[in-house]
Amino acid sequence: MLNKYRDCFATLAMTLNSNVIARAFRPKQSKNLYQINNALFSFVLLTIFICNQSCLAQNIFNNGNKRPEYVIVLHGGAGNFAQSDITAENEKQYYDLLGQALNIGIQILDSGVAAMDAVEQVIIFMEDSPVFNAGKGAVFTHDGRNELDASIMDGRTLKAGAVAAVGNIKNPIKAARKVMDASPHVLLTGEGASEFAKAQGLEIVDSSYFYTKKSWDALQKILQKEKEGGGTVGCVAFDKAGNLAAGTSTGGMTNKKYGRIGDSPIIGAGTYANNNTCAVSCTGYGEYFIRYIAAYDISAMMEYAHLNLAEAADSVINKKIKNAGGYGGIIAVDKNGNISITFNTTGMFRAYKIAGQEQKILLYK
Ligand code: ASP
Repeated sequence: MLNKYRDCFATLAMTLNSNVIARAFRPKQSKNLYQINNALFSFVLLTIFICNQSCLAQNIFNNGNKRPEYVIVLHGGAGNFAQSDITAENEKQYYDLLGQALNIGIQILDSGVAAMDAVEQVIIFMEDSPVFNAGKGAVFTHDGRNELDASIMDGRTLKAGAVAAVGNIKNPIKAARKVMDASPHVLLTGEGASEFAKAQGLEIVDSSYFYTKKSWDALQKILQKEKEGGGTVGCVAFDKAGNLAAGTSTGGMTNKKYGRIGDSPIIGAGTYANNNTCAVSCTGYGEYFIRYIAAYDISAMMEYAHLNLAEAADSVINKKIKNAGGYGGIIAVDKNGNISITFNTTGMFRAYKIAGQEQKILLYK
């Protein structure tokens, strides 16, 4: 909030400065006309600024000083889509699925089970749904394969697990959890990760399991028109014991090549959780989230610069990543149960529930 006002004053100052410049170059006109022009110019700039700000610094929900019993936030990807791009039938399906995923998390947290389990179970549900770009329904690589990434992190212990570029593990988030719980490692990739998952008793499927016509058609479209995909899933939770957890799962970017791995399985980039600060799950153009170590940067700004969650999320998504040309968003919950859902795209599939308050499911700005 403070930042917002600081920016507001900066824009006002810029507006006034531009009027000084305008005055220096003004042709011969009456003084009154120029005063009116300048006032109008300032007003238009200020209006554009305020509008822009309210569009970008979105969905910050603070609960004051009262810590809720539990909080759950989930996302199904961010992208530049508008309501007119989505049919009424698909819209209903998104609302239903996000609602079902949210209810899974609510039931788990309400019964006092750990945030880690809520995050894992919500993501398993979303991976099993062909609608999202994770598990079944994952996007295709340039070569027409599915290479899935997932990660999970426990804010209580700072333990984490991840798998990347896996092609036959039914639920990559389960494998990520196993890497965390049953191996000394953090990130396993490709066939090695599959071998590990199999040894851990996880379900291995034929690669054709991940196929959906929607994802295949998206690749064909992009092969003609190079464009990005979306629909990654993620979840962050704050449980009754005050522990935080975060997880993310994705098929990556449609048309990816050369074994490309995005931010989703990279702890600190796409996923981060720390009980001292917050839990974060990212979605968007992964290369930017890796370069800006997005999830960890939000936590670090809270820890070292004493920003609140809303300010830290705004700085990473709406300033650093946006200014660098990246797009996407984050969902996050902090150690007091405050939520931030911040994205610099026109849409983000998302749902959340703060114990004792009404749940929300949203798709657009
Ligand atoms: N961040 C993911 C990646 O770059 C994609 C997404 O979230 O849409 O792999």
